[in-house]
Amino acid sequence: MKNQNRPSKELVADRQSLMRTFIRPENTAARDTLVKYMEQILFGLHDFLNTHVGITEEVSLKDLSERYTDTHIRENPENKLAGVITDLIEEIAPHAVNVASPYFIGHMTSAIPFFMVHLKTIVAALNQNVVKLETSKVVSVIEKQVLAKIHRVIYRKNNSFYDEHVQNTQTSLGCFTENGTLANLTALWVARNTQLGPKEGFEGVDKEGIHAAYVAHDIERSVVLVSKLGHFSLKKAGGILGIGNSNIISIEPDLTSRIDLKSLKEKISEIKKSPVRTKIIAIVGIAGTTETGTVDPLRQIGEICAENRIHFHVDAAWGGPVLLSEKYNHLLDGIGLADSVTIDGHKQFYMPMTSGMVYFKDPCMMDSIIYHANYVNRLGSVDLGIKSLSGSREANSLILDSALKIMGSRGYALLIEHGIETAKSFAEEIESRPDFELVTPPELNILTYRICPEAFKKELGKCREDRRRQLNEKLNDINMSVQRLQREAGKSFVSRTTLKSYKGRCENIVVMRCVIMNPLTEINILRDILDEQEEIYRHEFGSG
Ligand SMILES: *Cc1c(COP(=O)(O)O)cnc(C)c1O
Repeated sequence: MKNQNRPSKELVADRQSLMRTFIRPENTAARDTLVKYMEQILFGLHDFLNTHVGITEEVSLKDLSERYTDTHIRENPENKLAGVITDLIEEIAPHAVNVASPYFIGHMTSAIPFFMVHLKTIVAALNQNVVKLETSKVVSVIEKQVLAKIHRVIYRKNNSFYDEHVQNTQTSLGCFTENGTLANLTALWVARNTQLGPKEGFEGVDKEGIHAAYVAHDIERSVVLVSKLGHFSLKKAGGILGIGNSNIISIEPDLTSRIDLKSLKEKISEIKKSPVRTKIIAIVGIAGTTETGTVDPLRQIGEICAENRIHFHVDAAWGGPVLLSEKYNHLLDGIGLADSVTIDGHKQFYMPMTSGMVYFKDPCMMDSIIYHANYVNRLGSVDLGIKSLSGSREANSLILDSALKIMGSRGYALLIEHGIETAKSFAEEIESRPDFELVTPPELNILTYRICPEAFKKELGKCREDRRRQLNEKLNDINMSVQRLQREAGKSFVSRTTLKSYKGRCENIVVMRCVIMNPLTEINILRDILDEQEEIYRHEFGSG
């Protein structure tokens, strides 16, 4: 069974077979073979896309890991392309996770439009390297154009601004990164370099290091402020940038999971009065938190930053594309005040893994991260690698630019609106069921809820604190079990997280987390998912 896709005769690695993998298919037979393989990829995966979702126990992870323990590379080829593709489709895909299922509503990775596979293939076939013009030419120019298109959606500057900057070799409106993590890192890198910039007798933090920067700027510590619901990539950035990840300071969210502005202001004045001389490098507002999908009050945070001359970063990795919906873009009101904005391509732009972006209001701001090697980059060249954390990278801009052409902003808006509106209906459905409790209502298309049977609800409403904690712990166990059993059953997948506070109290609350981005996820599917959870609960914990 295992070796059915293996070649019957021994393969050898020789120059002739090697060259066959490089020379373009000249004759019809060779072409037909390659087309056949593409067909196998596009349609052979179809079965996979119709099977179970999530990590099922059909074959446990332990069994799988035991299958993959051979650490030797064979000297001669083990298989031909056709055999390898068949293996990937028949042996690997069934044990991967079917994130494209409309019943897979647990994560920010979901179905992508089919054309993305074609676009990704073109990008691989062209194999441009956007680090410099000499390996990308027109692609670098297109990247600048698409960056300007999205910049315009965020900042809405006038025509002459975009005419001046769209192809300006001296300025940058942003850059592509591999993901949101590197976009946030880039934004905070720029913020740090700007806030701890050169001054008399000091050539800047990037050149002289953090200690010299603190001496020159007469401080002992620098910090970044963000709500407790901030993404953990910000902590990584704190570590990498020498700020220290314990100096990425969490501000309590309010009852609606948005940053509490009063606590934020108190923290700022506490820092100003502190005997340890401290600089606030940036305040981060989140447009769509990873756990609850809520949007911080961006306008107010922006005003606080302007008042205090602090860099304002908006982490819109998740929520950024909501700007394309005229119906809902008011939810991100104030984003235009941000000095920098992170948006992920592989989330709500529905691009394939992996693609992130970071934008800057001031087209000169990225000058603070110029890395210049005379032998590579000529002054005034379009080499995008001059202001970029990454070195070599793929032409993701071609995918985004093409997708925007195929979808139109209205097409994206329809996807976004479906997610937000379906999440609202789902919230109503949850609230109408006695065994469930809606924990964080959806602002965008993410919500959290838990199983909380009526008897629990009644008692929670009136009991003392120790009893409340006891009941919540019991509910945590119930929710963990039901989530796990549902995942193992393999029909649907909802993720699970632990919220650190609930109803203004610091308490660990285990919740189901639901992300609705697949346009095929309709309310009837969500009802099925709740039915299944109810059934598992009744079966495991009795009906009482
Ligand atoms: C997903 C996410 C990130 C990190 O993005 P990656 O692409 O996973 O690196 C950062 N911030 C928020 C709010 C996110 O949702």
